[in-house]
Amino acid sequence: MSLSSKLPPLERLALSVGCLLFVACGHATQRGTSPQPIIDVHFHAMAADEQGPPPLAMCVSGKNLPAWDPSQPWPEAFIGWLKKPECQDPLWSPSTDDELLRRSIEILRRYNITALTSGPGAGVVERWHAAEPERIIPTLFLNVADQPPSVETVRQWFKEGRYKALAEVANQYGGMEPNDPAFEPYLALAEELDVPVGIHIGTGPPGAPYLGFDKYRARMHSPLALEEVLLKHPRLRIYVMHAGWPMLDDMLAVMWAHPQVYVDTGVIIYALPKAGFYRYLQRLVEAGFGRRVMFGSDQMVWPEVLPRAIQLIEDAPFLSAEQKRDILYNNAARFLRLEPAATK
Ligand SMILES: [Zn+2]
Repeated sequence: MSLSSKLPPLERLALSVGCLLFVACGHATQRGTSPQPIIDVHFHAMAADEQGPPPLAMCVSGKNLPAWDPSQPWPEAFIGWLKKPECQDPLWSPSTDDELLRRSIEILRRYNITALTSGPGAGVVERWHAAEPERIIPTLFLNVADQPPSVETVRQWFKEGRYKALAEVANQYGGMEPNDPAFEPYLALAEELDVPVGIHIGTGPPGAPYLGFDKYRARMHSPLALEEVLLKHPRLRIYVMHAGWPMLDDMLAVMWAHPQVYVDTGVIIYALPKAGFYRYLQRLVEAGFGRRVMFGSDQMVWPEVLPRAIQLIEDAPFLSAEQKRDILYNNAARFLRLEPAATK
């Protein structure tokens, strides 16, 4: 039995990522070329056709979101939007699962990224983890509204160290509020085992209620729905995925009242027009919460969004060099308790 297999899951995560970063940093000092480490707290391993028939285009920081003429079904119009990009430099998704895996791992290595990685899709995260065990940190995708694994099964998985966090919690797609009684035992388990939780609050795909998620509601973008959960589980480490976009005031109020809550920049970092994303991020940072914003890509089937998303943080004119490093690495390291030295 190795040292790491005797440790509880979080220490093992700390050990594996810490060693990786130590090696990566040593490497950088030697060669002077490796970029500084980055943690992506919201990364997906999925099939190439998970978002629709590939190849699909993504306009990073595209100017316009679609305007739907309901004479045509929305699923058709939405896929049409992803097939005929309006921008000059769209990113095209790979056509096969192998190509998606290969390009994703190549980017994680080149940009020195460690990624908290979840499905959906049975066995996909495990396959990606086997292909790059140092950088792909498996986390548990969970939708309690859609035939979830039992709490006892999840307990076993966490005890075995199979998953290092409960994320992405996608109950919102099934119309389930965070304080739903069916979700409660999973939250209690995460608090008991000290497993970090990342919950989807905010953006699904545009027009989600017309894409088969018929219980998805815009009002569920509000992080205020988390309050009772936070009070019931005060030891829970939880981050709001997509930073609760666009409910900025609600997000600020929750971060003020509940100092343990972190947020990630998933999907809004590349799917919103640049000015819209910057305005949202700037308000979070200007309000004093720059140490609780974590870089999350919500990369799905477009691996090349990762360098573009990192560049958006690097280019943000309102962030200091220190704030950029906090978002790209330090805040996640503190939240995940990876390196005490990184917490300041
Ligand atoms: Zn996601």
